[in-house]
Amino acid sequence: MASLSLQHINKTYPNGFQAVKDFNLEIEDKEFIIFVGPSGCGKSTTLRMIAGLEEISGGTLKIGDKVMNDVEPKDRDIAMVFQNYALYPHMTVYDNMAFGLKLRKVPKDQIDKAVREAARILDLEKLLDRKPKALSGGQRQRVAMGRAIVRNPKVFLMDEPLSNLDAKLRVQMRIEISKIHQRLGATIIYVTHDQTEAMTLGTRIVVMKDGVVQQVDTPQHLYEQPGNLFVAGFMGSPQMNFLDAQIAEKGGDLIAKVGEYDIVIPAAKAKVLKDGGYVGKTVVLGIRPEDIHDSQMFIEASPSVPMTSTVKVYELLGAEVFLYFDVNGTQVTARVDPRTNSKTGDTIKFAFDMEKSHFFDKETELTIC
Ligand code: ATP
Repeated sequence: MASLSLQHINKTYPNGFQAVKDFNLEIEDKEFIIFVGPSGCGKSTTLRMIAGLEEISGGTLKIGDKVMNDVEPKDRDIAMVFQNYALYPHMTVYDNMAFGLKLRKVPKDQIDKAVREAARILDLEKLLDRKPKALSGGQRQRVAMGRAIVRNPKVFLMDEPLSNLDAKLRVQMRIEISKIHQRLGATIIYVTHDQTEAMTLGTRIVVMKDGVVQQVDTPQHLYEQPGNLFVAGFMGSPQMNFLDAQIAEKGGDLIAKVGEYDIVIPAAKAKVLKDGGYVGKTVVLGIRPEDIHDSQMFIEASPSVPMTSTVKVYELLGAEVFLYFDVNGTQVTARVDPRTNSKTGDTIKFAFDMEKSHFFDKETELTIC
């Protein structure tokens, strides 16, 4: 069993900087956990504390039932894959993968079995005799992964393992890592600042900011039900649009007033806003780009009077179009069907899918509904 438990983990560096604050997480066997967040939020520090490369200032780290705070890195049964996967240039792929086991004086036949099995999993069987300089970036990254796999560790820790690869290779390796996770049935903790990697790889995602965990959830929940303004803005690309809105009652409806527009709020959300005492107050209305529609059909079905604006920029990305325009002085992004008639300079009509809208408290920045 490779479950992990992080209880009230803190990290204060010798210069007094508190990089991780009261981090709590229970990780189950075989989970693929992602630590995500902006640069400097404490992702790597947390990972390095799990690996034993950084001292834990406070709290308890367990792997299985065993407290690991003071256990040497080599005795933690963990393998780490970094973004700088320095391979030994003078050694073949085979020897690069075998090296760690040789150091541990593992019998030769066992090493051979482990290396060939890892090579099979990683599709490196035909490259075992090559030297690193004769490999592509992605192949090198797979060898680095192979060095971790041959050790058959309980837990894999990966710190931005794909960040040195070009965009196309990143996508390929992302799929490879997903397959490896399924094949190995291992527990993986993976650090990235790339929210696409986080969304596609993770069984659960831990979003961090300034050393503090903001939310721990499945990718889908995180996207659909972000717990606060930061998570809502961080997960999703292009990011969620945010507009100041005043909540008011009008003709039996609850509305969000955005500048001159009165946007009707659906009943379930209206109830939460009313019960929360938000009538008459200004809140933040969040709407994802895909929930802004410029199609005639959607606009006609919307209970609100359509909004209008002038398209500042039109971007065709093949399967979708991004439109950029202002709503009450704030630039918003809409992700619409490529068959749209809206072009740069056009004055267009559009409406929000308010069933999918989010409301945030302007002061606490927590999600209201
Ligand atoms: P990135 O995505 O840029 O790698 P991160 O989320 O992994 O960022 P960490 O490397 O964990 O961030 O660093 C967290 C914070 O701790 C940063 O503000 C960093 O400057 C600080 N920090 C890291 N190492 C030390 C150190 N040895 N001494 C003091 N502060 C440090």
